[in-house]
Amino acid sequence: MNPTSTPRPTSGHATRRRGRRVGITETKARAGALLEQGAAFMQLEASVLQAAGSQASSSQASSVDEKRPAPGEEHFDVIIIGAGQSGLSVGCHLARKGVKFVILEGRERVGDAWRSRWDSLRLFTPARYDGLAGMPFPADRFAFPTKDEMADYLEAYARKFSLPVRTGVKVDEVARLDGRYVVTAGRTRYSSDHVVIASASYQKPKVPDFAALLDPSIRQFHSSAYKNQAQLDPGGVLLVGAGNSGAEIAMDLAPTHQTWLAGRHPGNIPVAYNGYFAMRLVLPVVFRFVFHRLLTVDTPMGRKAKSGQLSHGLPLIRVKPRDLDEAGVRRVSRVAGARDGKPLLDDGRTLDVTNVIWCTGFKAGLDWIKLPIFDDNGRVKQYRGAVEGEPGLYVCGLHFQHSPSSTMIHGAARDASYVAGKISERMRAAAR
Ligand SMILES: Cc1cc2nc3c(=O)[nH]c(=O)nc-3n(C[C@H](O)[C@H](O)[C@H](O)COP(=O)(O)OP(=O)(O)OC[C@H]3O[C@@H](n4cnc5c(N)ncnc54)[C@H](O)[C@@H]3O)c2cc1C
Repeated sequence: MNPTSTPRPTSGHATRRRGRRVGITETKARAGALLEQGAAFMQLEASVLQAAGSQASSSQASSVDEKRPAPGEEHFDVIIIGAGQSGLSVGCHLARKGVKFVILEGRERVGDAWRSRWDSLRLFTPARYDGLAGMPFPADRFAFPTKDEMADYLEAYARKFSLPVRTGVKVDEVARLDGRYVVTAGRTRYSSDHVVIASASYQKPKVPDFAALLDPSIRQFHSSAYKNQAQLDPGGVLLVGAGNSGAEIAMDLAPTHQTWLAGRHPGNIPVAYNGYFAMRLVLPVVFRFVFHRLLTVDTPMGRKAKSGQLSHGLPLIRVKPRDLDEAGVRRVSRVAGARDGKPLLDDGRTLDVTNVIWCTGFKAGLDWIKLPIFDDNGRVKQYRGAVEGEPGLYVCGLHFQHSPSSTMIHGAARDASYVAGKISERMRAAAR
């Protein structure tokens, strides 16, 4: 576990801050230590703010309702589950509003979701789109960071804003009890009137049932378990699923293995990805305008695009069909099942391969939420993160939560700001 303290607010909440600044000055004097305006000062300011925030919020909580946490239960104004880009962003926005919250993260380190991805992975978004609110990504704006650099960035972000992350706390259940949310992690229980599920859309690997019919001699695993070529047996490899992960892993494996890529081509960005033109013109238009502003749940075009993207995913961002051809990747039709223990294509052919990697995507993996929030397709019923029929419950980082950028780094801040705004509105209304 790694609890830290609540961050310092930024400008924009002058009235609130003015009141608290007295406390900061007093504490500085009490500390008797001369602190420079830097990290140490920020830590001190943050802890004072946290104390002030807890007082404000605990008095607020008791005036709002008389629900008290059960013995042994920790109570927070807001519980955020997941310390990826979505959870940290919500945390940062809540901190600016002086709300008392905690972020519960199942893994050992902030950023581990990125660290666990395959070795050669570089982000497909250049650094200018890889920073969260208040901290640009520390690299040349046109560079493509590695996955470990992204992981370290997230860790530095949590540290910079002193976000109260508790790592190694995997939430097993979210339920409602006596009008409040109860979050259980092992033997620990937390309660809150507000919970943000920021565990993203990439938690449970999706693999078709017929994977079980493949011959046991074939080595098979999901793309989330792929690290590098050394994991594969000698011989051919079939990548099932021709989206971004499938195409990128195909490029990684083609130099060492005969590689087949199966599935429908999802389309691609039609210009050289890292050329001058793409970097300065195409990517801003695609990421900032099309994925962020044009295609949203509030535009007719966006609503139409949503259903397609939820079933087929994003078009290829970096890899082009020509790149695959030049690398010697053989593209084949969808895998429809298995015959004689071999993968069967929907054109009736079977493939003789020794390895299969399922690049077939993920399920959100939210079955630990014991609340009636899912539609017939298993998707959370929500608008911009506010869950239908469950006041105080929010999600962040879902596919097309608001737009395609909702699952991208550069879209995290806007969704998080909306959710944090709704939470503080609700808290203010309850306190009146
Ligand atoms: C291979 C790959 C490459 C990508 N590349 C890019 C890119 O280049 N640019 C871009 O903008 N986007 C990219 N994305 C999309 C997206 O930015 C990432 O998936 C990102 O990690 C999503 O952030 P998140 O915070 O929403 O979720 P995550 O990073 O998955 O964070 C969720 C966190 O919640 C934690 N968690 C889950 N369940 C629980 C639980 N029950 N209890 C406690 N904690 C829990 C997890 O441990 C995790 O740390 C990529 C996605 C993938 C899969």
